[in-house]
Amino acid sequence: MPRPKILLVYTGGTIGMIENPDTRSLQPFDFTHLIDNVPKVKMLDYDIENIQFENPIDSANMSPQHWCDIAAIIEKYYDAFDGFVVLHGTDTMAFTASALSFMLENLHKPVIITGSQLPIGEVRTDGEENLITALQIAAARDAHGDPMVQEVAILFENYLWRGNRSTKMSANNFNAFKSNNYPSLAKIGLGIDFKEDALYRMPTKRPLKVRYKMDPSVMFVTLFPGLTEQTLRYLMSAPGIKGVVLKTYGAGNGPDDEWVISTIRDAVERGVVVLNVTQCVNGGVHSDLYDTGNALAKAGVVSGHDITSEAAITKMMYLFGLNLPAESVKKYLLCSLCGEVTIH
Ligand code: ASP
Repeated sequence: MPRPKILLVYTGGTIGMIENPDTRSLQPFDFTHLIDNVPKVKMLDYDIENIQFENPIDSANMSPQHWCDIAAIIEKYYDAFDGFVVLHGTDTMAFTASALSFMLENLHKPVIITGSQLPIGEVRTDGEENLITALQIAAARDAHGDPMVQEVAILFENYLWRGNRSTKMSANNFNAFKSNNYPSLAKIGLGIDFKEDALYRMPTKRPLKVRYKMDPSVMFVTLFPGLTEQTLRYLMSAPGIKGVVLKTYGAGNGPDDEWVISTIRDAVERGVVVLNVTQCVNGGVHSDLYDTGNALAKAGVVSGHDITSEAAITKMMYLFGLNLPAESVKKYLLCSLCGEVTIH
């Protein structure tokens, strides 16, 4: 087997940050510093090249344009490398992983996103282990010599998760991510134990097609007891909005007051696509379980089943970016495009 060729893409995030001596808060630094702190990387028998954002960012500043920048790097170097490791801040990592899973259509090479809770220069950093494990996962092959991982995934501490199933669960635990509705793709212990049944495989292998247009005419609307008619009407008629991810209670329930249902129905009739996603971290929408969920479905709200909020909003951006009419967007929201949702 030839030496694995891995491209490391550094976008920013805590992993590469250092303390600003004036403010004592963390700020992104450049990649040379990062790799200097992990001499062990050189012990891996891989050809590793790196590329970094011109201005590395705190991922709180992540935007669809940055997703395009990452996707463009992957497209440009797709044939030249066996796998890609993207270093990224944890704050919006699940959004980026979800967005890239849709944008990189027909992906069949590993895109492993990782970062850390403590900067790589700190003595107790989790960054060194995460970086090395991510490189090993990107280089891993199955029994046929094909890449073991053929999708966008998040590696963090003890687990590899499907990117578009992941959520940031903790602001201080080293195990910061979790996929609440899908099993891990690998468990990291003494070795890397891949769960081959959980790994995504495309039904037919096609050439990579990158979709750069992500339409940001979407938003979250979170239900809460006390939400007023005035606020809901204002939100649902926001200018230019094409899609709303409605964050509902439990199994997809919301108040069935006449004003709630009519406000939502009016938006749907104006062509706004409304997707029902539960506020619970685990489980999904079952609109037929309660009258309150049923009322939303009757108003034209589409079930998000067990999709994460991060995957829901980025999937809408991707579908509207394809210039699809509302009816087609609804149709694709009810299908799994790359393993992001379970629909029986
Ligand atoms: N604010 C940082 C970021 O998302 C947090 C982190 O990387 O853990 O870039």
